[in-house]
Amino acid sequence: MHGFETRAIHAGQEPDPRTGAVIPPIYATSTYAQDGVGGLREGYEYSRTANPTRTALEECVAALEGGSRGLAFASGMAAEDTLLRTVLRPGDHVVIPDDAYGGTFRLISKVAERWGISWTPAAVASVASVRAAVRPETKVIWVETPTNPLLGVADIAALSAVARDAEALLVVDNTFATPYLQLPLSLGADVVVHSTTKYCGGHSDVVGGVLVVSDAGLGDELAYHQNAIGAIAGPFDAWLVSRGLKTLAVRMDRHCDNAERVVDLLLQHPRVSQVLYPGLAEHPGHDVAVKQMSRFGGMVSFRMVDGEQAAVDVCDRARLFTLAESLGGIESLIEHPGRMTHASAAGSALEVPADLVRLSVGIETVDDILADLRQALG
Ligand SMILES: *Cc1c(COP(=O)(O)O)cnc(C)c1O
Repeated sequence: MHGFETRAIHAGQEPDPRTGAVIPPIYATSTYAQDGVGGLREGYEYSRTANPTRTALEECVAALEGGSRGLAFASGMAAEDTLLRTVLRPGDHVVIPDDAYGGTFRLISKVAERWGISWTPAAVASVASVRAAVRPETKVIWVETPTNPLLGVADIAALSAVARDAEALLVVDNTFATPYLQLPLSLGADVVVHSTTKYCGGHSDVVGGVLVVSDAGLGDELAYHQNAIGAIAGPFDAWLVSRGLKTLAVRMDRHCDNAERVVDLLLQHPRVSQVLYPGLAEHPGHDVAVKQMSRFGGMVSFRMVDGEQAAVDVCDRARLFTLAESLGGIESLIEHPGRMTHASAAGSALEVPADLVRLSVGIETVDDILADLRQALG
């Protein structure tokens, strides 16, 4: 098998057979001419069902995650919704991380619940707490690792054993780590989910999602529902994500380099009470992170000695860091999870500390990133 960077650039990306175009074109078409009734060219019939630009992305992402099938959607949430509606029935139960991505929490607790799905939050960093949350009706164990925004680490291999015992699927949201840093399917996960809006797209110019599986039968069921539900990635969006994936490896290396320098600065700063980064030896998930990740990513969170207002002030004072939700793009972003991405979790089991600041460390010149952070911290 070719190396990661080679697959990122070539998997599913053969030059166009008609013109030799090196990059697969954006097939902006809804339908396909048939050579006689039922005479489909390469199986293409209607673009909700399949489109060559989307196929190129789906093959590439499957090759990067080491799966047999990739499926591309209009957003990460569309991918998650299609997955849940494929594998769950009324009466089923889901174990979700107690600091799950807010949209995932909302989809399961507010939308799926009305369709008869029950759920239990668990601290996924603790295998015992996930095991304790499992019930006879559990069909899905949902894991994010590292988690958002607390950067907790879940042991994918250990949780895959819990899922096997429970006859449940282990779903891993690999958005933060990306396949360059972590390969959940190789550790026993059944499904990988991405918001490709983040590192996979990587340029903050597209919203998208993917699912990747190893099992061909599950892949077929998901493809059936992808077509039946219709929340597909359009050809231009699929093309943007494919373009992003080609540079994923070099971008992730730089995100990691810059994040490590940011962590060093924060650790020495007197106004910072705690730095959350899986690469730190004192991080409770460090040993597991070392086992399952090649590096520790571009997301860094920290807490301020002086509480909530100090955290909000840092966000307001940052200038090179853009104050914005989302993450994983080339530009550095800063946010206050308690009032922004995780505001909807206030008062729930998923509430985050008020003195917390989350950084998505970009790939600008590292000295500029550090200087901005220094002035913002005051
Ligand atoms: C952004 C995000 C999602 C949702 O993806 P969208 O593309 O915004 O729909 C899911 N999981 C994680 C970890 C995310 O960061």
